[in-house]
Amino acid sequence: MSKIVFFCIPAHGHTNPTLGVVRELVSRGHEVWYYSYNIMREKIESAGAKFISCDDYDAEQKLSAKDSVRVGKDLAFSAKVLVDTTLALDDKVCSQMEELKPDCIVADSMALWGKAASLKLGIPFVSSTTTFAFNQHSAKVMKQGIGDLFKMLISMPKTAKQVKRLKDKGYPVKNILDIIGNDDNTHTIVYTSSGFQPCSETFSEKFAFVGPSIRNADGKTEKKGDKLIYISMGTVNNDMMPFYKACISAFGGTDYQVVMSVGSLVSVDDFGELPENVSVFSYVDQIAVLEQADAFVSHAGMNSVSESLYFEVPLVLLPQTAEQKGVAERVVELGAGIKLDKLDGESVLSAVKQILNDGTYKKNAEKIADGFKNCPGAKGAADKIIQVCNG
Ligand code: UDP
Repeated sequence: MSKIVFFCIPAHGHTNPTLGVVRELVSRGHEVWYYSYNIMREKIESAGAKFISCDDYDAEQKLSAKDSVRVGKDLAFSAKVLVDTTLALDDKVCSQMEELKPDCIVADSMALWGKAASLKLGIPFVSSTTTFAFNQHSAKVMKQGIGDLFKMLISMPKTAKQVKRLKDKGYPVKNILDIIGNDDNTHTIVYTSSGFQPCSETFSEKFAFVGPSIRNADGKTEKKGDKLIYISMGTVNNDMMPFYKACISAFGGTDYQVVMSVGSLVSVDDFGELPENVSVFSYVDQIAVLEQADAFVSHAGMNSVSESLYFEVPLVLLPQTAEQKGVAERVVELGAGIKLDKLDGESVLSAVKQILNDGTYKKNAEKIADGFKNCPGAKGAADKIIQVCNG
């Protein structure tokens, strides 16, 4: 039996897909340890792993509000924060790994301390990627990423300082790309299908496209009319009262049943009296809603898009970040949705009508869903990890 150690960042979207894999490994009799954060403790333990907390070592959680905004935008600064966390965890991780002697480390593509430890200690490594996998081909097709790569190159002299800090502590890295980038030699699990991943044919056989992990619905959504439209801008950047109100005024009084999830940053009470065909919630059982929906107006978060396509629901996409733009562009390219640049109620309504009137959007969503359903899933991810454990 093998010993496997997972590392992840404190984000549900990065953690959730790994839990099925942990369950699968544990059910096969392997032992799993999981370095993560207290907010994830319960679900990690209930998946059967032994939880190890990183909260006291995490540099990002200690940042001021001003500096937090720089993470993800300023590459040199992001590299410093990631290296700070890696070095803070160094003693704890290295001494525990030496005692444990794991057969394999599995780390989220953003939990660099996992990959760094594997390099330093010579432990076989698998990267876990919950967004699209990137190489120079997929970055080009996705149109975004090029800018990011460029920024990365010009910030190299600044990241050299961080590389030196790692080297001084015994990490064998020549440049920051050694731990930030995944090359064709890195075993990588990607939680989407090869059909949905842009340029999947350009990735080596070390990449396993295992498909999205879709949880079960907790209940059932009642469908009151012919067409149900679901609107959600996700759980993070969803403070968008003017947009929600514009949707209510555009969709109010139509024949559509509209279900809106607005998040906890706005108050449901502030919407006042709603048109009869519109319901607003701070959170819904999204899977249950998508089982009944005919179109999804979404911010194009990777999880929301995967869930929508899994249930063959075409999308109107309103991406807010570079990553969401990449996901939205892929959906458009495969003909399963319409991307809008403006947060405007009337444009959303007319895009929804277009999607419902032209059956090709739904057909293309069905094709992507078929691809998802043919993926090897958590079992395939576990097979990959065990194959790496066995050398
Ligand atoms: N979600 C949900 N109910 C809601 C809103 C969101 O269950 O009312 C879930 C949704 O199913 C998805 C996740 O929250 O799994 C959102 O992830 P995504 O990557 O789409 O966007 P993020 O919230 O990270 O921007």
